[in-house]
Amino acid sequence: MIHQGKCPKCGNTVLHVHVESVNGMVANESKAKCLSYSCIHCFAVLGVQIDPRGKRRPKAANEAGAAAAKK
Ligand SMILES: [Zn+2]
Repeated sequence: MIHQGKCPKCGNTVLHVHVESVNGMVANESKAKCLSYSCIHCFAVLGVQIDPRGKRRPKAANEAGAAAAKK
């Protein structure tokens, strides 16, 4: 496999990323656990997503998530 993804900041091939747990803020309130992916070379953030394992969510999303989790 040839890795072609390059960090937009330092130009290094992205073979690894730092994964950090961060808080998603909505109107200055922590609403969701998120994951941030950053370059291991220069720490530029390459992407952020909602942590699918996160527990802190708004009630509506929590109920939907709980229903989806019960299989
Ligand atoms: Zn980089």
